[in-house]
This record gives sequence, C-alpha cells and structure tokens, in this order.
Amino acid sequence: MILGKLSQEEQNPAAPCPPEVFERQVMVPGRFYTFGRRKSAGVIVVDRGVADEITELFDMIFAHRFPIASAIPISYPPFRWNDERSMIANNTSGFNYRAIAGTNRLSWHALGRAIDINPWFNPLEKNGVVRPAGAERYDPTRRGAIAPDSFIVRFLKAHDWEWGGDWRDYKDYQHFQKPLH
Ligand SMILES: [Zn+2]
Repeated sequence: MILGKLSQEEQNPAAPCPPEVFERQVMVPGRFYTFGRRKSAGVIVVDRGVADEITELFDMIFAHRFPIASAIPISYPPFRWNDERSMIANNTSGFNYRAIAGTNRLSWHALGRAIDINPWFNPLEKNGVVRPAGAERYDPTRRGAIAPDSFIVRFLKAHDWEWGGDWRDYKDYQHFQKPLH
C-alpha cells in the first residue's frame, strides 16, 4: 500500500519539524468502530518505519470492535497541533512535533514513533494529577480503556513498543512508543 505524505500546510508554524523528519511521516488509514458502535475511519500519522505495525493494529482494533472515538491527524482542524484539545476530544493520534508535556525534551511523537489511543479513557496520571483536565482516573474495565492484558498492549509490546501504563514514575495509559535504539 502506498501511504500519503503530509503537505507543507501540516507543518506547525510554532514548532517546525526538521524536513528529514517531516518527510518520513506517512498517513496510515484505518477502519474502526466508534463508541456508538458505528463503522468509521481515520488516519494515524507515523514514521514510515512503523507504518506496517500501525496498519496491522488498526486491522486488529476493527476486528475486535475496540471502540475509537476518532483518529484525526493532530495537524488537522479542530486540533491544529494542540495536544490538550486532541486529548479532551478523546482523539487517537501519532505524529506531533512537540516536547514531552512539562519538559523541553522531544517526545517520541515528534519523530512519529509514538501513538496515543483514546486519551480521555486512558489518561496520563502524574503526582495525583490526571490529564487531560477533567478526565476520570484510569479504569481498565471501561469500554475504550487499554487493559494491561489487552490485545493492543500484547501486540505492540511484541513489536518492541513500550506502553506508558508500565512506567514507574508516572503512568501514561494512552501512550505507546517505539524508540530508536
Ligand atoms: Zn503520547
């Protein structure tokens, strides 16, 4: 499958991505069921080196009828690179040229080697604070939450992705990343 690339309009003017990183990003299309149990479709933007895995993940999400609220690239309206807005909308996404929240270190999202799945139901929990603001604490039994033994965690870990739900200092249940070693 030939995957689409990002257009220059999808460069964040406030944080332009180096061209050698930007040109590696591809649009991975996929189908899924919404929380309302309707068939829908979306796109996750990732580095071309992990595109096959995300294609397979989308296929599994569809086959398991694991609900996804939306999968809209972060560069599109209404998000326009705003991670908080995307999280509040429970939007699933990948590439975003940005730092790790609250730090000046680049996130693996900045290289297209991280994805966030259903952030509203899989929040980041750090020092008792839940993000996005207003989200409830993580409950692995909720529909759309990522349980530790779920097919998503098992599949991605088998392909050398890390899950933020396994981290010790804080938890980021929506987050998976595949660092370059
Ligand atoms: Zn993330």
